[in-house]
Amino acid sequence: MKFKSTRGKSEEVSLTYALQHGLAKDGGLYVPAKFPLFPWRSLDKNMGYADFATQLLEPFFRGGELEDKLHAICYESFSFDLPIVDLDQRSSLLELFHGPTLSFKDFGARFLANALSHIKTDNKLTIMVATSGDTGSAVAAAFHSKSNINVMVLFPKGKISLRQQQQITCWQDNVCAVAVDGTFDDCQVLVKAAFADKWWQEHTHLNTSNSINIGRLLPQTTYYAYVSWQYFLNQCKKANFIVPSGNIGNVCACFWAKEMGLPIGEIIISQNENNVIGQFLQSAQLPHKPSVETLANAMDVGNPSNFERLYFLLGSTQRFKAEVTAFKASDEAIRRTILKVKQDHDLLICPHTATAVYAREFLPSDQHYIIVATAHPAKFEQVIEPIVGEKIPVPQSLQTLLNQQQSNVGIAPTVGAITELYQAYFNLSST
Ligand SMILES: *Cc1c(COP(=O)(O)O)cnc(C)c1O
Repeated sequence: MKFKSTRGKSEEVSLTYALQHGLAKDGGLYVPAKFPLFPWRSLDKNMGYADFATQLLEPFFRGGELEDKLHAICYESFSFDLPIVDLDQRSSLLELFHGPTLSFKDFGARFLANALSHIKTDNKLTIMVATSGDTGSAVAAAFHSKSNINVMVLFPKGKISLRQQQQITCWQDNVCAVAVDGTFDDCQVLVKAAFADKWWQEHTHLNTSNSINIGRLLPQTTYYAYVSWQYFLNQCKKANFIVPSGNIGNVCACFWAKEMGLPIGEIIISQNENNVIGQFLQSAQLPHKPSVETLANAMDVGNPSNFERLYFLLGSTQRFKAEVTAFKASDEAIRRTILKVKQDHDLLICPHTATAVYAREFLPSDQHYIIVATAHPAKFEQVIEPIVGEKIPVPQSLQTLLNQQQSNVGIAPTVGAITELYQAYFNLSST
């Protein structure tokens, strides 16, 4: 399969090329040339997740360099649980946070890291990623032992939780953790600026593992596909999902799975105060406002990259309005929801998941919804513990990372600063 740009002004490329380059030359994002229908009705009911994922993604890998590696990549990447926990008769939580860094981003980051490490190349690859929290830790963990890849993780200084930061700054070796004096949007701008910069173009093969890389989104289709298939087998009904959204990658993957014919009904977007989608549905225009800080900080995105992919898929504002529903949760609503879920169900949820549980209240009570739980609550103890008034037990995998030695370097949000740091950290001359 070939991949094309959402802006239509670049030629179609192979999957390997799209994985290695992230952004298309015309500034657009790569999407599959077409979405094949997935014959889920004829599958063996006992098929496990990694085998299912291999079959789902096979058409995208067909004819490419990684075709015969796909099975191994799926097995290496999807080696953790995918539990569904009933909240009540009409809502369940899909827990996507049982990977090594406890957020759904482990699915995409591990898949991309394993795929890239299977591609033969002479140039040293550099991964540069901007993070509003969870991407950075997932990417750092996924790429840490891939010794032929240099990694720069840029996070907004003082704007992510201490534990999120510790999960980014505990790796060292080939992972350089960078505290940028600015917001998440500044970090994203900086990554784009490095891509456009001559020094970077000449001295390294620069790539990003932000969700603009299609290697992050394709694997995320697999859990929506797998869960909706299992749901249909058990319930003979389509699955409705509520997805906490910021950069719109995770929910775009859900729409892609639906496009492949999987039994998915409604797809609902929940957002925090940065309710870009809600504003678009009202005014048919993107607000282009800077992000504001909220309790659900991994969703503090003012200019979501993957909006472009979702809009491209749906094709027009009219269809976008028909297919997309969005809800906004204020910080106050997030707090109340975390407390209510604790009181009613004796369950702790993260602030991002809380936006989706809150949105559930506004949806028909006679329908069933699967609420996507995007991160483990222990990552956000600073928000949750004061609300529920008790300590959150730390899972062993997280404790191990927190015990590591930490290091990061602070920089101003300029290309010059990031270039200098890269040269110093990876021992390169400045010419
Ligand atoms: C990244 C993230 C989100 C938002 O996902 P997008 O793909 O950016 O929409 C939601 N919750 C958590 C915990 C995250 O880390």
